[in-house]
Amino acid sequence: MPHVLIIEDEPDLAMGLRDNLEFEGYTVTHAADGEQGLAAMREAAADLIVLDIMLPGIDGFEVCRRMREAGHTMPIIILSARGQEIDKVRGLELGADDYVTKPFSLRELLARVSAALRRAGQPVANEQARINVGDRVIDLTRQKVVLPDKAEVPLGYYESEILRILIEHVGEAVHRSELLERIWGTGVYPADRTVDNHIVSLRRKLEPDAKKPRHILTAHAVGYKLVL
Ligand code: CA
Repeated sequence: MPHVLIIEDEPDLAMGLRDNLEFEGYTVTHAADGEQGLAAMREAAADLIVLDIMLPGIDGFEVCRRMREAGHTMPIIILSARGQEIDKVRGLELGADDYVTKPFSLRELLARVSAALRRAGQPVANEQARINVGDRVIDLTRQKVVLPDKAEVPLGYYESEILRILIEHVGEAVHRSELLERIWGTGVYPADRTVDNHIVSLRRKLEPDAKKPRHILTAHAVGYKLVL
């Protein structure tokens, strides 16, 4: 399982993150400041870093810059109490991959950790791999839909990623912008119709009648919702 390094000086938050990541199956190292974090990386390179900005000593921006300067390419998810756009831009310019503003839900952070690792081609912990939708089965590990007659239809990369997120929020509307951000990444803006086009193609694979969807529903003015 991937190794996650948490660089965070608030003990309660660090412990909560650590427990949850370990529960998901990740190996976790915690560093309470930037120097410790850089030292931990020299000792054992992590596959992903969760990095607080406001740290005693050198701040998260500087840690991020030094990590990239040292040639480390793993995803870095920045945590910040400040939500200002300027911080976000600065973090991304210094080579961070994603940015979460405190307070955040652990579930959201875990989802972003999985998404970042997946983009980096790393394995991801504890996911529900098979799920029944109407008369079909989605098999995310093999990226296929199994039809009632057992025939299999392959899912494209983006189709699988969209399904993964809809499954996480089954029964709830998922905003189009959340899909864009988590799959394509913060600061990347593919064409507006990109998500919609993948949904059309998913419906052809999952719905008995793609023109009258019963499972992948449009949530008006918001995005999409999966109903099993
Ligand atoms: Ca802090």
